Amino acid sequence: ATVSMSVHEQLALRHRAVLPDWLAVYYRQPIEITHGEGRYVWDAQGRRYLDFFGGILTTMTAHALPEVTAAVTEQAGRVLHTSTLYLNRPMIDLAERIARLSGIEDARVFFTTSGTEANDTALLLATTYRGSNQVLAMRNSYHGRSFTTVGITGNTSWSPTSLSPLQTLYVHGGVRTRGPFAHLTDPAYIDACVEDLEDVLDQAQGRVAALIAEPVQGVGGFTSGPDGLFAAFKRVLDRRGILWITDEVQTGWGRTGEHFWGWQAHGASGPPDILTFAKGIGNGLSMGGVVARADVMNCLTANSISTFGGSPITSAGALANLTYLLEHDLQGNARRVGGLLLGRLQAITAGLSCVREVRGRGLMIGVELNTPEQATDVLEATRGGGLLVGKGGHGGAVLRIAPPLTLTVAEAEEGAEILEAALKQVESGRQGS
Ligand code: PMP
Repeated sequence: ATVSMSVHEQLALRHRAVLPDWLAVYYRQPIEITHGEGRYVWDAQGRRYLDFFGGILTTMTAHALPEVTAAVTEQAGRVLHTSTLYLNRPMIDLAERIARLSGIEDARVFFTTSGTEANDTALLLATTYRGSNQVLAMRNSYHGRSFTTVGITGNTSWSPTSLSPLQTLYVHGGVRTRGPFAHLTDPAYIDACVEDLEDVLDQAQGRVAALIAEPVQGVGGFTSGPDGLFAAFKRVLDRRGILWITDEVQTGWGRTGEHFWGWQAHGASGPPDILTFAKGIGNGLSMGGVVARADVMNCLTANSISTFGGSPITSAGALANLTYLLEHDLQGNARRVGGLLLGRLQAITAGLSCVREVRGRGLMIGVELNTPEQATDVLEATRGGGLLVGKGGHGGAVLRIAPPLTLTVAEAEEGAEILEAALKQVESGRQGS
C-alpha cells in the first residue's frame, strides 16, 4: 500500500533524524504551532488551542501582543546592531525599570539571552564573591541546561551528568506535600527544613558561596515550601555570609498573583542578594538577566561583554511587554482569574481518584496525578479537546497550568471544562485521543 505522509508528518521524522534523541517533545504526534493571538495558538492543520502553557511561561502577556510586535518591528527596521560595547537606550530604560522593581537596593542589571545563562552568571558572581565553588540548591530544582546549571538541578530527570564544576549540597523545602516533612504543620515544616539546612552547612567542608532556589519550583511541578521558608533560611545564611540567589525565571512578573516576585512571599528577612529572570519578560523573545547588589555584581575584575544580551530589539520588545503588564495590572488579573481557576479545578477534581493534589498561586497551577502515565494521557486528551497544558514534577506526574497573564474568566472556564473532560476520560480508563 502507498503510504502518503503529510508535510507535517514528514517534519516530525526530519526533526527526529536531525535533532538530539534527548530533546524532550510533547505529544505522541508533536504539534507544529504556526501562529497565535491572545491566549490562543493555531497548529499547521489549522486547529485552534487555548494555550495554558504559553511556551513554558514565555508568553507573559499575550500571543502576538500588538505593542510588542510594533516595538520589535520598529527597532528592527531601524538598526539590527547589537553588543554591549555601545550605549543602547532600550536596554538602559529596561534595566532601570527592572532594578527598581527588583526590591534589591543599589541594584545592577546584566542581560543575558536565556534563564540558563542568567543562572550561570549568578553562579559566576556568587562563587567569585565568596571565593568558593560550593553551593546549596533545593532538591527537585531545575535551573537550566548548561554544565554549571545542570550541576544545581536536583530534579535528576533533567540533570544528565553528575560531573560539575560546582560542589552542590541539596536541601529540603521545595516540595511541601512529599518527603520526610510532609506531615508537619507549616511552622514545623519550616523548622525542620532550617534544621536540615544547618545540618548540611555544619557538615560542609569549607565555605559555601550561595543558596540558589526557585520560590515555586517550575519544572519540579509547581511546588513550593510554605511562605516564609526562605526568610527563615536567610537568617541562617546571613549569619554565615552566604548569598541567596532567587531564580525568578518562572515566578517573576506577577505570575503568582499575590506578589510581583516569588521571593516576596519570603521577604521578612530582607531581599535576596541576586535575582535571575528570563522567559516571560521577552514575551517569546530570548531575554534573561541577573539583578544583584552592586558590591556583588561588581566583584568580577576582568572585562566581560555580551554580544546578544540586552540587544536593542529584545530590549525594546521587553520594555513594551513590561509596560503593558504594569499598565493593565496583570498581576492583579493573575490573582483574580488564577484564584477562580484554582477553585474551579479543585471542585472539578474533588471526586477524582486519579488526582492527587491541585495547588498553585496566581496563574501558576499544578494538577498532580497519581502516575506519570495518567498525566501523559490527560495531556493527550486535553490536546484533543483544544487545550495546551504543560507537564512537570519528578517523573512527570504533574500537569502545569500557566496561561498568559491576560487570561479572561471566560477562557479560564473554557480551559477548566476541557481539562475536566480529559480528567474524567482518564479516570474512567479510556485512553487519551
Ligand atoms: N530556571 C528555571 C526556574 C526554569 O524554569 C528554566 C527553564 N525551564 C530555566 C532556569 C532555564 O531557562 P532557559 O530554558 O531559558 O535557559
